[in-house]
Amino acid sequence: MTEILEPRCVTTELSGWGRFSRRSVRMASPRNESEIALLARNGGLIARGSGRAYGDSAIGTKLTLDMRRMNRMLAFDEATGQLTAEAGVLLSDVIATFLPRGWFPYVTPGTKFVTLGGAIAADVHGKNHHINGSFGAFVDWIDVLGADGEIVRIGPDENSEMFEWTLGGMGLTGVIVRAAFRLRRVGSGWIRKTTVPAANLADAMAAFETADEALYSVGWIDCLARGASLGRTLVMTGEHADANDLPRDYRAHPFKTPVRRRFTFPFDAPGIVLNRFSIRAFNALYWQLGLRAPRETLVDYDSFFYPLDRMLGWNRIYGRRGFLQFQCALPLENAKSGLTRLLTETAQAGQGSFLAVLKRLGAQQSRFSFPMEGYTLALDFPATPTALALLKRLDAVVIDHGGRFYLAKDARMSSETLCRSDARIDAFRDMRRMRHLEHTFSSDQSQRFHL
Ligand SMILES: Cc1cc2nc3c(=O)[nH]c(=O)nc-3n(C[C@H](O)[C@H](O)[C@H](O)COP(=O)(O)OP(=O)(O)OC[C@H]3O[C@@H](n4cnc5c(N)ncnc54)[C@H](O)[C@@H]3O)c2cc1C
Repeated sequence: MTEILEPRCVTTELSGWGRFSRRSVRMASPRNESEIALLARNGGLIARGSGRAYGDSAIGTKLTLDMRRMNRMLAFDEATGQLTAEAGVLLSDVIATFLPRGWFPYVTPGTKFVTLGGAIAADVHGKNHHINGSFGAFVDWIDVLGADGEIVRIGPDENSEMFEWTLGGMGLTGVIVRAAFRLRRVGSGWIRKTTVPAANLADAMAAFETADEALYSVGWIDCLARGASLGRTLVMTGEHADANDLPRDYRAHPFKTPVRRRFTFPFDAPGIVLNRFSIRAFNALYWQLGLRAPRETLVDYDSFFYPLDRMLGWNRIYGRRGFLQFQCALPLENAKSGLTRLLTETAQAGQGSFLAVLKRLGAQQSRFSFPMEGYTLALDFPATPTALALLKRLDAVVIDHGGRFYLAKDARMSSETLCRSDARIDAFRDMRRMRHLEHTFSSDQSQRFHL
């Protein structure tokens, strides 16, 4: 009989994508479920995918499991579009393999460098949440390794309660080892994109509501605009193009898209590079370019879904101090007043954000996932004491308006703030206690939130 040896652990420094609060951790890179089971015996572990969550959700209290070696695609069913893969497979690899065959993920976040495990654990949403819901809606089953080291298959019809907790459960229900999820048929690698400049928040929301049948919609907000221009937004919509929508020269190879040169941000930018003046200038320029952009264009999928992926390591632009992302969801009925207050507070603080993204979320009933019917706003700030103070004020606005926060983006919120924003926390804690999960699976984030 072959003896399974516990994989070697190394000590390394880890942080989330925001590079805020780094620390030295023990990390292991298992190759199979037996190795994970051995590593799980001592508890205090969390699975980590690509580390694209902004905060400390993928840092284990005692041990972090780097899942990227478990990255095989195992089976594909042409009839249903169902792909079975190990949890460490990257969405970028799924696209590279299946787009040339006419398939694309139903739901994708704004970066394709996420793993399947990370996409499920955060139950990520894309620009089509209002039509398709979140990633979990296309997951048929998941194999999860629990506190007893055993694998359990969970899905909408099999251990469904555990399935629902695992979607958005941030790795705290066990280690996702493999899963089956569905891809959609597409006719090309191109997107028919429309850009509508909206002069203020009311116009932006009206543009989203008008575009409610567009498959994809997203808004970029100039979050430093004030007064009558508060909330001015470039609202972009998109649809997958068919081969017939493409210029004649492209029709023979509809899945061939330009290979974009990638840049690597070479160093930690000094803090002075990002200040209120450079951010204001960037926001104003981006708005002006948007005004002049053609209203309808054909763009390749990479430019539409993943503009930030072209600059590898772009998170270093905020310098060594790192940055914080704030992402909330506001219920539809309070969205206008909540967004107005959030943008007013941000503009008054002069704490502009390079990336200020607004999306319309559709209805979603879930045990622990982030989305709710309404709007979601995401803002980035350099990690400074002023930004931290502003974020506390923004937290209060979200709570006042019945909204909640996205755990995949959080790096600093208090347990009290989380509990005040989300009535589901107690049930999540009870589930973890009853299933003896809390000592085996824990991250820095779950400790901070006393989950
Ligand atoms: C540029 C950028 C754009 C983004 N845009 C969006 C967006 O539009 N929509 C959106 O929803 N999110 C978005 N995100 C967030 C990102 O999609 C999520 O944080 C996602 O979870 C990251 O996946 P990952 O593989 O990097 O996981 P990690 O960041 O490594 O981990 C995230 C969480 O998943 C858990 N996890 C990872 N693998 C496993 C596993 N095998 N088993 C159990 N748990 C696991 C971790 O414990 C952790 O709690 C964006 C992030 C970036 C950097």
